[in-house]
Amino acid sequence: MDKISIIVPCYNEQEAIPIFYDAIMKTAAEMPEARLEVLFVNDGSKDASLSEMKRLAEQDDHVKYVSFSRNFGKEAAMYAGLSYADGDYVAIMDVDLQDPPKFLGEMYRTLETGEYDCVAARRTDRAGERRIRSFFSAMFYKVINKISKIEFVEGARDYRLMTRKMRDAVLKMGEYNRFSKGLFSWVGFRTKWLSYHNVERAAGETKWSFGKLLRYSLDGILGFSTLPLSLSSYGGIFFCGAAFLTILFLVVRYLIWHDPVQGWTTLMCAMLLISGVQLLCVGILGQYLARIYLEVKNRPVYLLKETDEEETENEG
Ligand code: UDP
Ligand code: MG
Repeated sequence: MDKISIIVPCYNEQEAIPIFYDAIMKTAAEMPEARLEVLFVNDGSKDASLSEMKRLAEQDDHVKYVSFSRNFGKEAAMYAGLSYADGDYVAIMDVDLQDPPKFLGEMYRTLETGEYDCVAARRTDRAGERRIRSFFSAMFYKVINKISKIEFVEGARDYRLMTRKMRDAVLKMGEYNRFSKGLFSWVGFRTKWLSYHNVERAAGETKWSFGKLLRYSLDGILGFSTLPLSLSSYGGIFFCGAAFLTILFLVVRYLIWHDPVQGWTTLMCAMLLISGVQLLCVGILGQYLARIYLEVKNRPVYLLKETDEEETENEG
C-alpha cells in the first residue's frame, strides 16, 4: 500500500490543528487505498500548537511532528518537512484548511497513472481577500513571468502532491533563500494543475502582513531572475551615450558662442537624475549581494529542537 506523507507547516495554529486533524481523518477514511501520514512542522509557535501536535501524535501513530528552535518561516518548514517525509508520495498542505483535503484522492489517482509527477492546486479567485492585496499579487505574477525563464502559475498555492522522485529533486536545492513556488517549477517534472475557488481560513488568522508579502515577492524576483542587474548595466550604457552626446553639444556650443555660465538648471537636473540612477543601480547590486552574503554563510535553513521522528537526516 502506498504511503502519503502530508507536510503541514504550523505557526501559532492551536485552534486550527485539531480541526485539520479531523478533516484529514475524514479524507483518510475516503481513500483506503493509501496510508496517510501527517507530519506537522512546528515553526517556533508561541502558543499551544506543539502540545496539540504531541497530543495527536500520542493517540495516533499516523501523526508525527518536528519542532523548530524558533520561527524560521514557512519556506524553512516546508524544507524540513520534505527532508523528514518518507512516503511514496509527499503532500504539502496548510493547516488552516485553505487547501481542501478532499482533493488528495483525486491528486493521488492522477499520480498513480504515472503520467504526472506532481499535482498542484491553484485558486482561481481570491474571494475574501483585500482588493489591494489581490492587485499587487496579480502584478507580481505579471512581472515575474516576464522576467524569469521559469513559469509561475498565478494563484498557485503551496498545496501539492508529488512523487518521491520530485521530492528528492527539490531537496537537492539546499539554498538558503528559498522560494518554493519557483523551486517546484525549476526542477521540472510534469505538473497537473487543479483549480478551485478560494476557501477562507477555518480558524486563526493569516501570518502574512503586507510587508512580509512584499519582501517575499522580492525574494522570488531576485531568486529567479538577473534581469534587474542587466537593466542597470543597460541603463549605464544609455547614460554613457547620453553623456557623450551632451558633452559634444556643450563643447561645440562653447566654441561657437563662448557661453560657459548658462545652464545651471540643466546641470542640476542632470546631476540629480544621474545620482538617483546611480544609487538605484547600486541598490540593485546590494540586493543581490545581500543574498549572496546569506548564501555564502551557509547557515542551516532551520534548526530542530525536538521531534518524534528518528533523526537520521542531517539538519537544515
Ligand atoms: N506558517 C508557518 N510559518 C510562518 C508563517 C506561516 O509555518 O512563519 C504556516 C501557517 O501556520 C499555515 C501556512 O503556513 O499553515 C500558511 O499560512 P497563512 O494561512 O498564514 O498564509 P495565507 O494562507 O494567508 O497565505
Ligand atoms: Mg492560510
